[in-house]
Amino acid sequence: MKQITLVTACLALAFALSPANAQDKKKKKKEAAPKAHPTGYTDTPFLPGGKWRVHDDARPRPAVVTPGKTASDAPSDAIVLFDGSDLSEWVMDKDGSAADWTVKDGFMEVPPKGSGKGGYIKTKREFGDVQLHAEWATPAEVQGDSQGRGNSGIFLLNNYEIQVLDSYENKSYADGQASALYGYKPPMVNATRKPGEWQTYDIIFEAPKWDAEGNLLKKAYVTVLHNGVVTHHRQPYLGPTGHKSVANYNTVRDTGPIKLQDHGNPTRFRNIWVRELKFGTND
Ligand code: MG
Repeated sequence: MKQITLVTACLALAFALSPANAQDKKKKKKEAAPKAHPTGYTDTPFLPGGKWRVHDDARPRPAVVTPGKTASDAPSDAIVLFDGSDLSEWVMDKDGSAADWTVKDGFMEVPPKGSGKGGYIKTKREFGDVQLHAEWATPAEVQGDSQGRGNSGIFLLNNYEIQVLDSYENKSYADGQASALYGYKPPMVNATRKPGEWQTYDIIFEAPKWDAEGNLLKKAYVTVLHNGVVTHHRQPYLGPTGHKSVANYNTVRDTGPIKLQDHGNPTRFRNIWVRELKFGTND
């Protein structure tokens, strides 16, 4: 009898130490209900300002936005200004008539010189603080030089230009090359692709702010990514863009259209969308 008990005890010990039993125990541990994580706290210290606690459970969660399939596609809260099909969001800058730039194969293009068409175009809508995505390409066949080669431009708030130019192995003044705040600030680096290749701008623009008397309270600021490369980080503007002149804040406005420049070169644009930014909504 003693012998049987000993054998049973040995078998039980062998089973307890077996890898199969260890796995079983692990599995059971895994299957046990996980401890719920708190969705927030009500007893943590207050952040400066005293409105919200650290990790405050009562603090409103941000609005849900569905991103595009890629970072170039418009997210769900964007206003699409050009999807490749028509210029219904755009008018001629000079007189507000229908925009007459060429639309084909999913892009718009500055009309040829002497065609009787063309001129700057602008959005029908006006914007203040925005995130803007735009894609552009300078002519594949290189013509002209310096500022005469693939010149265009994107103007935020009617007058604040981010230069568009074929700056691929094309010497021109630094504050006039692609991604420059024209006439003021060159990009930190030249991230230009070859002529004819599609390029991206992702721009965050902060509109200038004024008091009731038209005194400037805050300058315009811009952040620019050119082909995914940061070329300006919250760079203040000297004022609305000028040519061969020093800019200054001589125009009081805090909203305006987005404008595209006709500089006489058949530059192309596609996939343009904008998100209106409401700074402070996450305060
Ligand atoms: Mg230009």
